Amino acid sequence: MNKNSDLTKVLQELKSIVGSNNYIDDVQDMGAYLSDWRNHFSGQSPLILKPTSSKMVSDILLVCNENSLSVVPQGGNTGLVGGSVPSNEVVISLEKMNNILDIDPVNYTMTVEAGCILSNIQDEALNVNRIFPLSLAAEGSCQIGGNLSTNAGGTGVLRYGNAKELVLGLEVVLADGTIINSLKRLRKDNTGYDLKQLFMGSEGTLGIITKAVVKLFPIPKNKVSSIIALKNIHSTVTVLANLREKTGDSITAFEYMDRNCIDLLLNRLDIRDIFSDKYSHYALVELSSSRKNENLMLILEDAISSSIQRGDIIDAIVATNESQSAQFWNLRESLPDLLKNNGDFVTFDISVPISQLNDLIEKAENKCSEILINSKAYIFGHIGDGNLHYYLFNSQELSSNEFYNLREKIKTSVYDITMELDGSYSAEHGIGLAKKSELTKYSSQSEIALMQLIKKTLDSKNIMNPGKIL
Ligand code: FAD
Repeated sequence: MNKNSDLTKVLQELKSIVGSNNYIDDVQDMGAYLSDWRNHFSGQSPLILKPTSSKMVSDILLVCNENSLSVVPQGGNTGLVGGSVPSNEVVISLEKMNNILDIDPVNYTMTVEAGCILSNIQDEALNVNRIFPLSLAAEGSCQIGGNLSTNAGGTGVLRYGNAKELVLGLEVVLADGTIINSLKRLRKDNTGYDLKQLFMGSEGTLGIITKAVVKLFPIPKNKVSSIIALKNIHSTVTVLANLREKTGDSITAFEYMDRNCIDLLLNRLDIRDIFSDKYSHYALVELSSSRKNENLMLILEDAISSSIQRGDIIDAIVATNESQSAQFWNLRESLPDLLKNNGDFVTFDISVPISQLNDLIEKAENKCSEILINSKAYIFGHIGDGNLHYYLFNSQELSSNEFYNLREKIKTSVYDITMELDGSYSAEHGIGLAKKSELTKYSSQSEIALMQLIKKTLDSKNIMNPGKIL
């Protein structure tokens, strides 16, 4: 859009589509929509729209496409790669499309609008004695549309898979306003290309997800969790393999934290250390089962004992009640927030085949301390998925500017190591704005060409979240 008068007219048309209660055009009120959770990315927007139906989303996109006016779809704005932040586009927030449309406990499905908050979906499932197992620390504010657009992971992937594996059907609005209704509730449906897969993980660059059919699961009647201290990273991986074998694959979470993370938690949450001794490596393990009579505690204790005998586990504490288990989980879930406010850092969301984790950490630590003397790393993550969140903090000696000047070098080194180990530089957070150069660097030309072709076919005027991913 070039001319100001034309832009004003189009914006007026968009406002009339959603109605007076469903937009923000005053910059003073837009703050929450214009920067990301970590305040690493910020931008501006002429208008925030809050449609209340798929038809409205379609009408908005029709007008935007005709006028070549770009849009950024936005969910809870908790993404960590800048994908939901506008540079100057109209923001389409799904927050008012937050209805649960159908719950079918017999079919084990729920049909929801894209703006439903993840924790609300979890609660609705519990009401019918089912669970929706997607779980992440941002679940109180992220939306299912955002989860699917980023193919979010979280703590339940080991048992239930990533977000896209929890979906049976989608409704999507394309850039030209076409509504693709594929809200199937079927577990078997091999009828042509599986179109819904295109929109999951594509971060709002190919269309707007407006509804989804998600899978539900039996509610675990029985849960037990434990914090274990491990000899080293190699032991961590061996213990996971042993626990899976010994517990009949009942593990639903296996979350790693290093000693620096534990120190930060003890310090900031003002709590006592977990064990009487300090160790270098910790994991939070959760077993669950839908069978009420199964003695999971005994199964877990036996499995832990066998790893203690092998020398892989050095210490362990098994939660004896739900409140102790909640305390364990609180430790893990507090970490992202505490790290965000802990000084200047570079962060990585990387994954490798879990047999390579030892190499990854060793090589990354050596390289980082070569580049940044006295730097401090905090490592935690979904180690059962081979996924680490690696935070490298500035040393005392460098100013913020000096540290940020080294950032690219650190990033390149860690990503190169990760890719040499057959890994991924973006395990679960996506590309957004943060990792565009890595996508170009590490993908083959033919992969990029195919992505560009798909983008051009679905969004010929490049109005859908332009500048993100590609
Ligand atoms: P947003 O941030 O609003 O958007 C994310 C992307 O999706 C953007 O590109 C946006 O344009 C697009 N989008 C949003 N809604 C739609 C829609 N309806 N249609 C099309 N495109 C859309 N992620 C993990 O995978 N695992 C974790 O364990 C995890 N933990 C986190 C912990 C914290 C404390 C925080 C702040 C974030 C965490 N995340 C994690 C990041 C995660 O990606 C987001 O929390 C979540 O999946 C994004 O949902 P959202 O609704 O906030 O989307």
